[in-house]
Amino acid sequence: MILILEPDTDRNGEEFAALMAHLNNLANVQVRLHEEVGTQQVLTEVYLVGDTASLSLDDMSSLPCVERAVRVSEEYRILGRHKDDQRPTHFDYNGVRFGQDTLNVFAGLCAVDTPEHVEQMMRALQEQGQTCTRMGAYKPRTNPYSFQGHGKDCLPWVFELAGKYGIKVIAMEITHESHIDEITEALHQTGDPTGVMLQIGTRNTQNFELLKFVGRQRRFPVLLKRGFGITLEESLNAAEYLASEGTRHVIFALRGMKTNMGDPHRNFVDFAQVPVVKRLTRMPVCVDPSHSVGSRDRAPDGILDVSHVTAQGVISGANMVLVDFHPDPPTALVDGPQALLLKELPYFLEDVQIAREAYLKRCKLSQQYD
Ligand code: PEP
Ligand code: MN
Repeated sequence: MILILEPDTDRNGEEFAALMAHLNNLANVQVRLHEEVGTQQVLTEVYLVGDTASLSLDDMSSLPCVERAVRVSEEYRILGRHKDDQRPTHFDYNGVRFGQDTLNVFAGLCAVDTPEHVEQMMRALQEQGQTCTRMGAYKPRTNPYSFQGHGKDCLPWVFELAGKYGIKVIAMEITHESHIDEITEALHQTGDPTGVMLQIGTRNTQNFELLKFVGRQRRFPVLLKRGFGITLEESLNAAEYLASEGTRHVIFALRGMKTNMGDPHRNFVDFAQVPVVKRLTRMPVCVDPSHSVGSRDRAPDGILDVSHVTAQGVISGANMVLVDFHPDPPTALVDGPQALLLKELPYFLEDVQIAREAYLKRCKLSQQYD
């Protein structure tokens, strides 16, 4: 059961002390507190774990400081949606809203290579009014001899360029907990010109120690990729690991599954599950068409497979698109073959917009027939 306390409840006050005294007296029930500091108010949630079946919702709702009580009937205690659960399905980070009702495009480099390419990418984004991007500095690679990313050395100039071009959020994969300190340090050194969304890649979805570590920090939101060879339930539990340690600012990314059934795509595109993840959890859902499709193949209608699957995700309500672009794909150090060209950016964004508008129309239509 979750008790949602009145906004700005004073945790040093008498009423709160009375509430805690009552809860701590309940037999076989553990009490865990979570505080969410928003721009307007501080929200406190109390998690009651254990023998809660006999507790009545009415009784619990009438305790001091309690605004409402929610019975956790389903899985994913924190990030899940539960009956009568009105907890938020969005969060704000560095002036950008991420929610189950919004759409943000993160077009950018799979891997940072040269300052010239990063600058060309960011300039193109600014010209299109974009404030988010992807920039890989730490690259987990299948082959130990492949380029592993520039790591911390590139961070200062990547962040400075982001500031120069008005980029507010960079999705950046981390593969080790030390990378958080490196990112924090580089942001500090450069005067915090931008924000970072920590990405946990598909190869680390079940790296539980990394999840716990990332979950304990509250500064950066997290983009968790679905594990490419595990069930959806297992991947959603990985997201819950992050939340159970403290961070609720988690976006869940579908990026295709490893099975040859999806050939000739690099991975089997799983964007049909966008609405499923939104139904089961309160997380915004991202689709990654580049790592799903893995090529620049084009259908007879002239549309790239990458654009087709993006539209399929967006028309089903996806909230974020993570997509590889490169100013000069033949020289890209990672994943050049799937990268879109800078001149394709305006087209890509317009195509996404068409799918988004169609999605919003579909929502209206379904309400009319409700
Ligand atoms: C990436 O987005 O750069 C990446 C490596 O993705 P994934 O973890 O989904 O393979
Ligand atoms: Mn890649």
